[in-house]
Amino acid sequence: MKILGIFIDALNPGFINETDTPFLYRLSNRGENIVSLESVLGFSTTIGATIFTGTYPDRHGIWIEYYYNPNYSPYSKIPLIKLSKPIDYIPIQIIRSGINFLLSKYVYPYYAKKLGYSELAPYNIPYKIITYFDVVTFKHYTEPKAFPVPSLVDVLIENGVSFYYSTHISEATLKNALSSDVSIFYFSKADLVGHIFGVGSKQHRNTLREIDRKVEHLVNTYRRKFGNNFEVLVFSDHGMANVNKKISTISWVKDKELGKKYLIAIESTMMRFWYFDERYKEKIREKLNSLGYGHLLSTKEKKQLRIHFSDNKYGEDIFLVDQGYVLYPSFKSWSIPKAMHGYHPALKEQQAVLISPTISGITEASVVDIMPTILKLLDLEIPKTVEGQPLVG
Ligand SMILES: [Zn+2]
Repeated sequence: MKILGIFIDALNPGFINETDTPFLYRLSNRGENIVSLESVLGFSTTIGATIFTGTYPDRHGIWIEYYYNPNYSPYSKIPLIKLSKPIDYIPIQIIRSGINFLLSKYVYPYYAKKLGYSELAPYNIPYKIITYFDVVTFKHYTEPKAFPVPSLVDVLIENGVSFYYSTHISEATLKNALSSDVSIFYFSKADLVGHIFGVGSKQHRNTLREIDRKVEHLVNTYRRKFGNNFEVLVFSDHGMANVNKKISTISWVKDKELGKKYLIAIESTMMRFWYFDERYKEKIREKLNSLGYGHLLSTKEKKQLRIHFSDNKYGEDIFLVDQGYVLYPSFKSWSIPKAMHGYHPALKEQQAVLISPTISGITEASVVDIMPTILKLLDLEIPKTVEGQPLVG
């Protein structure tokens, strides 16, 4: 059985309708076969690992790209870092981020290679605390042995099933896809355009229409070649919600106690904390509890979300902001998005989606179910590590 997988970044079930995505709407049997998938808290890196291993972050081990490592920081091996400290104090953001951009492009790749990291950028991590951080080393989910648990690709290789992956459609990629057993096309544009222009904007809707046409082209090409002897699965990693309130993080970054009594990592939708001083911990917790635009995740909640790591490497405290708020600048970005994901995964707008004509009667599932579903369609054994369930009989 041939499998055509189409991975659309940031596609929420609510984006599928007759006007914006007419082909997907028909493919889903006029909305009947739309499965809403609960995603996991975090961003592309962790969700990609979750989808392709069928396991949650606390099992595949990858959550956010950088974390506090008291024993080692690759940044401390880079002589330039010490010299870069004054960059923190340049008052104009665009100059500061411009310098960092140039360093990331021309200097850091050299050190990444030398120190054995796939990527090593300063992002916007303040130089006064950057040498506390280590970077998660991981491979792309299409590479073999990328995770400590078997991935889709590992199982396919083990069983001699050919796999092809592409991010664009061309004569050559189509030819490769048609001659492989499992092919996945990945389209990222809806994520980018959604962030820049917002959900429901003309640009976002046009992009959905554009991707819908690509899906139609792929499915029709497969139909011409294989008739009905192939399975198509369209899936996404998360949804997206419009942002209407911006919260500046400058006061955290400028705090004199940062790097002395505690450490912070700022994402667009969350702040992570590590503490060097127990009394200061209470002070910060009190402050976070009074902010009114998010909440500290309890241990119970972290366990439920499957992001509880006993060594606290990704953060002793996680403050998650409410949907609609965005923190800026984050350590990864200076820009203020019009729409964001990475909020609580139980929210409707944050859900991912799965559409397949063969999956009917299921309306709710999880992103961990995608991988075992593909394996089941191929009649391959599902690894014992997999936590998801196949959605086909
Ligand atoms: Zn995104």
